[in-house]
Amino acid sequence: MSIATVNPATGQTEKTFDPHSDEQIDAAIGRAADGHRALRAVSVTERAGWMKAAADLLEADRDDIARTMTTEMGKTHAAAKAEVTKCAAAARFYADNAADFLADEPADAGAVNAVRAFTRYQPLGPVLAVMPWNFPLWQVMRFAAPALMAGNVGLLKHASNVPQTALYLADLFHRAGFPTGSFETLLIGSEQVERVLTDRRVRAATLTGSETAGRAIAQIAGRELKKMVLELGGSDPFVVMPSASLDRAAEVATTARCQNNGQSCIAAKRFIVHADVYDEFTEAFVARMSALRVGDPMDADTDVGPLASEHGRADVEEQVADAVDRGARVLCGGQRPDRPGWWYPPTVVADLTPQMRMWSEEVFGPVAGLYRVSSYAEAVEVANGTAFGLGSNAWTRDPDEQERFATDLDAGSVFVNGMTTSYPELPFGGVKNSGHGRELSAWGMREFCNIKTVWVG
Ligand code: NDP
Repeated sequence: MSIATVNPATGQTEKTFDPHSDEQIDAAIGRAADGHRALRAVSVTERAGWMKAAADLLEADRDDIARTMTTEMGKTHAAAKAEVTKCAAAARFYADNAADFLADEPADAGAVNAVRAFTRYQPLGPVLAVMPWNFPLWQVMRFAAPALMAGNVGLLKHASNVPQTALYLADLFHRAGFPTGSFETLLIGSEQVERVLTDRRVRAATLTGSETAGRAIAQIAGRELKKMVLELGGSDPFVVMPSASLDRAAEVATTARCQNNGQSCIAAKRFIVHADVYDEFTEAFVARMSALRVGDPMDADTDVGPLASEHGRADVEEQVADAVDRGARVLCGGQRPDRPGWWYPPTVVADLTPQMRMWSEEVFGPVAGLYRVSSYAEAVEVANGTAFGLGSNAWTRDPDEQERFATDLDAGSVFVNGMTTSYPELPFGGVKNSGHGRELSAWGMREFCNIKTVWVG
């Protein structure tokens, strides 16, 4: 895959980049190793000053970098601006909280026959971050903010279709004042990742992306005995029970499925609705999905822009065609518009069966699958009947059911009566094939720390 900006709204290639040579990669890793020595030597307070400067720069650059993101991967300019704002907030969150998250944690010295015993959190070193295009700034920032505040440094291998956003990120941390080598962008294809990860100076890796990419990198990290965090795909359930506020559930379901043009790992993808309210919910949901405005992502009135790539659109089309061939019904959408670029309309598909690809695969586009269930037990069975376990959503006003869903849904998060989203204050990650490890909160920061036991007799 070439490293290039190709505008998904037009299909036009706007800019191409030469991949970095082996010498350039080695030099960048060398700068990262030096940068790590410099960054770990300064206080958390000093790092916090730079991180706050990065937040200020993000806000100052907001419209321009948002335009770059829209041009590179098609999200609406409004969504891109919101993403920039969210990144600035996360940078400030870690600037404000890192000292607490990294503070020595005393243990019961008497119980371990010590005068003093405590846990100390220290950085690991250069961390390779393999990142996707769907939230090209946020996915990187939620790794970089805690990592840099802990004294680690980042080596970014971004998706090949967002090179300008990738270069912006390295420039951002440089302008904010971080020491040289604190954050390096490598313009490399996926075939060069092994070279970076096997380098002894690189101590760990984090990847957000597909299961296939996760398996490829996990094999290398396993062989090299390097720590890794994996945030992979999801096929999140969105369960609607009879006591739910149906209108609100239909409204949030629409946003949850179509946010980011339907390309979010924690988008609700499977809508599992109790038979008692199935018809009413479906009618409200289809009406809202049909009413979304598909169009120029730079236009403030647009709800849904194009998909990020031609192959991404082809995948979605094939999944819907497979379901229809096997007897599913399309309740709205389902036909690509006849125009240049990689458009696909908000679509609802009903009557899914386990033989259809949509039943078991992640659909990375604005396509909702509807499932009718007749009990709480069946809802949980269908919700958990997937290889994924990233986020999940349950709609019920019954306090007993709320408690049970919180326990019974097999996922890294359960959101009840609200949309699944990520917050710097809460851990984020998955179980099963959605990956392992956590990002965000204190948990995300400590993933790339040496959690050191200190015992003083
Ligand atoms: P990929 O997983 O292929 O890409 C994510 C990142 O991994 C990119 O930087 C990519 O680089 C890199 N990568 C891919 N394959 C390898 C490999 N073998 N070794 C090392 N690095 C690799 O995502 P796609 O864009 O192809 O999307 C396909 C599917 O991935 C989607 O349908 C969705 O299911 C899932 N996905 C999930 C995301 C999430 O947020 N969890 C985000 C994006 C995708 P390069 O671009 O150079 O190939």
